[in-house]
Amino acid sequence: MELFDVLIVGGGPIGLACALEARKNNLKYIVIEKGTVANSIYNYPLYMTFFSTADRLEIDDIPFITTSPKPGRQDALEYYQGIAKSKEINIKTYEKVINIQKSIVFQVETSKQIYFAKNIIVATGFYDIPNLMDIPGEDLPKVSHYYTEPYPYSFQKVLVVGSSNSAVDAALEICRKGGKVTMVIRSSQISQSVKYWVKPDIENRIKEGSIQAYFGAELLEIKPNSAVLKTNVGEIKEIENDFVLAMTGYLPDFDFLNAIGIDLKNNCQNPHYDTDTMETNINGIYLAGVVCGGRDTHLWFIENSRIHAKQIISNIIQKKESEKIP
Ligand code: FAD
Repeated sequence: MELFDVLIVGGGPIGLACALEARKNNLKYIVIEKGTVANSIYNYPLYMTFFSTADRLEIDDIPFITTSPKPGRQDALEYYQGIAKSKEINIKTYEKVINIQKSIVFQVETSKQIYFAKNIIVATGFYDIPNLMDIPGEDLPKVSHYYTEPYPYSFQKVLVVGSSNSAVDAALEICRKGGKVTMVIRSSQISQSVKYWVKPDIENRIKEGSIQAYFGAELLEIKPNSAVLKTNVGEIKEIENDFVLAMTGYLPDFDFLNAIGIDLKNNCQNPHYDTDTMETNINGIYLAGVVCGGRDTHLWFIENSRIHAKQIISNIIQKKESEKIP
């Protein structure tokens, strides 16, 4: 039986950071990733720009060189996949972790085989499960919770729900390709977290009328050729559209976290972990990266969660050292 010191679930930026830290400390590790390396980033909008500068997305102090200060999706894929290749990270791709059970060590069941490990790091991110609006018509084929590029929407009527970075980027790109964009925004203004160099752009497009926005509004229903919303003064309006982009955010896989025994506090909002060591309520299972925020997916980024790799691996090393003391 092959026994790993650490098995890392998820090969995103933070899973890779954990792998590099484990490698540096001579731990026997493996990364299991259900898609390609940095799969969430692979699925990002094609022409997105990170809000972070490249240096803040670096892992293990490996320089992230880009021609522009803020990298895009392709730069990030080159960087993280390049690291996996050049550092010969021990990673299995297109293999999903299905369950983890603890006896003497952890037994990890994947879509392909069983692994054994002394410690587990869960770095599963949050990009795979859309935060649903739970309204009639949300499952119509014209509705998507993911946006890739503007070209399919040229000369189409597109309803964009939300006002975060994803919603604003989609609205601006589609408007510039000749799409007629209407935004439905729950709050009274564009989100404060929108990239500082993009916010004036969207605000001015709304002001000049090239994009129509309903602030303080709620989407009630989506129909095959229209959508029904309640405006900020309680008026019910039906708006014609060809496509709906519901940019309402994403959620971590709470079912998976629950199934492996992680205590999800505050009505499933926050996974339980020790802020110093990142160890969960289960001895030997750690959380790393953006999954730590639970429902609050704006709490952790690559920028502020790359540190989790050092916290976790130093705790594992400490435990290993103390096992040696007679
Ligand atoms: P992820 O990158 O989501 O990686 C998790 C990985 O786990 C995925 O590859 C997934 O396929 C895999 N996985 C999940 N479940 C399983 C399973 N059961 N078995 C095997 N594998 C599994 N952060 C910044 O710091 N700066 C930015 O500018 C920035 N811009 C962003 C822009 C967008 C559009 C989004 C959505 C996020 C942005 N973020 C940014 C936030 C953060 O960078 C990303 O969410 C980042 O990808 C988080 O890294 P991670 O490794 O924690 O999770």
